[in-house]
Amino acid sequence: MTQDVWVFIEQEEGTITDVSLELLSKGRSLGDELGGRVCALLLGHRIDHLAQTAIHQGADVVLLADHPELARYRTLPYARVATDLVRERQPAIFLLGATPTGRDLAPRIASAVRAGLTADCTELKIGSFTHRGETYEQLLYQIRPAFGGNVVATIVNPHMHPQMATVRPGVMRRGEPDTARRGAVERIAPQFAPGDLALQVLERQMWPPLCDLTGASIVVAGGAGVGSRENFQRLYELARVLGGEVGASRAAVDAGFVEPERQVGQTGVTVRPRLYIACGISGAVQHRAGMDQAGTIIAINSDPNAPIFDIAHYKIVGDLNQVIPQMIRSYRENAK
Ligand code: FAD
Repeated sequence: MTQDVWVFIEQEEGTITDVSLELLSKGRSLGDELGGRVCALLLGHRIDHLAQTAIHQGADVVLLADHPELARYRTLPYARVATDLVRERQPAIFLLGATPTGRDLAPRIASAVRAGLTADCTELKIGSFTHRGETYEQLLYQIRPAFGGNVVATIVNPHMHPQMATVRPGVMRRGEPDTARRGAVERIAPQFAPGDLALQVLERQMWPPLCDLTGASIVVAGGAGVGSRENFQRLYELARVLGGEVGASRAAVDAGFVEPERQVGQTGVTVRPRLYIACGISGAVQHRAGMDQAGTIIAINSDPNAPIFDIAHYKIVGDLNQVIPQMIRSYRENAK
């Protein structure tokens, strides 16, 4: 086994997804600690131009498989190429985004090479582990909430490598690209078995995303305390005035006040805006997991003991139906 850290580079229509760039930054720091190389696994067709992006983001080597059959993601051809390479090159660590593609591909590879896989990690570190008198050095600590978010579990895999993990978009911090970085591009000639290509994609329909919460610099989020879909209009107005996006707690989504795509938290999206305004949100640990990295947090809650106030920088105790219109009025007056 090598000490190499691999990152699967997910690309869509010739653009690398944000989560892959975030994982390259994380992979870089893990690779430096292990003394191994960071390898970007880039599959697709006519994607040569993406190799330099991966190198600038931290890759030492790009394993580039360019083939018409890899033009669009399909489980079997992608799993074939990745699995063959993992078997041959023996990376220590393999990271993938916890996107629909990553969640499909990662277990295929893990089961084929009999590796462990931890989904939706929120932190990755290098450390040692002692079990029955034996110490294993330089393992990947795969850290994630477990048992409904009540426990933060550290999972290690001393025996079956690579140590595989998926990470949701927005969880890892993306470093600045370094355009002076140099790396190697190694071309891979994919070999498919006939059955790998049995499935053909005849048509593809793409819907534009409802919102871009992970990229938003201001998020106005509402919880069960907002009370109704109609009351949520106040949050949309505040978000519009401030130039932000509307997010929500799971309770607000479950109540049908907003679409599931707007859910922030452990089972929603992770956001890192400059400003997060939590309206009628109690501050459960599962919600905080998705927003506690925000630069400034303003909480509006009628309960002065709401746990959200423990992490808020500015605390407004009151009825959000009165506070939000006042905020909008005051912003409009002062912004003139
Ligand atoms: P509540 O806890 O009901 O809080 C409503 C708040 O509104 C209260 O604090 C109340 O004082 C306040 N309020 C009421 N009326 C007003 C008013 N007029 N003005 C001002 N304040 C008012 N939750 C998430 O959000 N995201 C997740 O990703 C997520 N994942 C989960 C995963 C698991 C495995 C589990 C078990 C739970 C998860 N949850 C998640 C649910 C989480 O535990 C909480 O139940 C949820 O976050 C509560 O949402 P809330 O704060 O909107 O509702």
